[in-house]
Amino acid sequence: MEFKKLGKSSVDIPVLGLGTWGIGGFSSSHLGGEDKDVKALRLGLELGMRFIDTAEMYGHGHSEEVVGKAVAHDRESVFITTKVSAENLSYERVIHSCEASLRRLRTNYIDLYQVHWPNARIPISDTMKAMEKLVEDGRVRQIGVSNFSVQQSREAQEALSRNSLASNQVEYSLVERSIEEDLLSYCTKERVTVIAYSPVARGHIPRSGREERWRTLDNIASKYRKTRTQVALNWLICKEAVVAIPKAGKLEHVRENARSAGWALKKGDQDSLDKAFS
Ligand code: NAP
Repeated sequence: MEFKKLGKSSVDIPVLGLGTWGIGGFSSSHLGGEDKDVKALRLGLELGMRFIDTAEMYGHGHSEEVVGKAVAHDRESVFITTKVSAENLSYERVIHSCEASLRRLRTNYIDLYQVHWPNARIPISDTMKAMEKLVEDGRVRQIGVSNFSVQQSREAQEALSRNSLASNQVEYSLVERSIEEDLLSYCTKERVTVIAYSPVARGHIPRSGREERWRTLDNIASKYRKTRTQVALNWLICKEAVVAIPKAGKLEHVRENARSAGWALKKGDQDSLDKAFS
């Protein structure tokens, strides 16, 4: 597995992490599916994707509990990111949410704590004050945001007095490229890591049709003896500021995704994909 520096920090993170939306159920705990989910996460860790992304809202906290189980024996060697929900962004609620996430994750620190969505009703200065307090107390190591525009990212950075904004987690894939309008270049220039979510378009990329753009992807995949998904993920991580967090519950998908790193598409092939999916 390759690594990239997280934001302006000296922390190295794997270029591929493990998404967990749906792991632990979508809206309530799904007992019975849990062992399978732990197994999928552990396989991902074994294969070098030692970076797990979760959130307090996933499965009403149950996703964090599943992550806590998966990393119970080697927590120190896994980069864990979780998120505080938009309704919990006041100073007190951020602190309270973090404590609850720590308990569910069975850990005493979170590697990267992210604001899940912006909330215009709560001043970002309150939220970031709480984030910096959590860093000061050793509960959180790095501060990030998610679904923030360029302007909102700037305001988040300005609200931080002692820390740099490490990351912005946003939707990004071959078929969803809105961040290329301005956010990607902003993050690259400011050294804010882009954590690409829904990087295989929620399963759409491996499953889709036969129109010309998909044929371009398939041709490039066969040239490298890779699959569509592996090329689509590699296209993302070839970009300087970007890491990706595909979610896979099926073990064969975890194995396939892990093999999306460790090689690189040639510039000409990246350009062909840029054009085909523009
Ligand atoms: P995704 O990773 O693009 O797609 C997940 C879907 O693709 C699953 O159905 C999975 O199937 C399938 N899949 C994965 N690898 C595959 C492969 N090699 N071949 C065929 N199918 C494959 O979408 P996502 O879950 O929306 O995004 C990833 C993670 O980003 C989430 O889990 C979450 O951690 C994060 N996220 C964050 C936000 C945010 O607002 N910050 C929003 C959405 C997601 P199986 O599970 O059956 O293997």
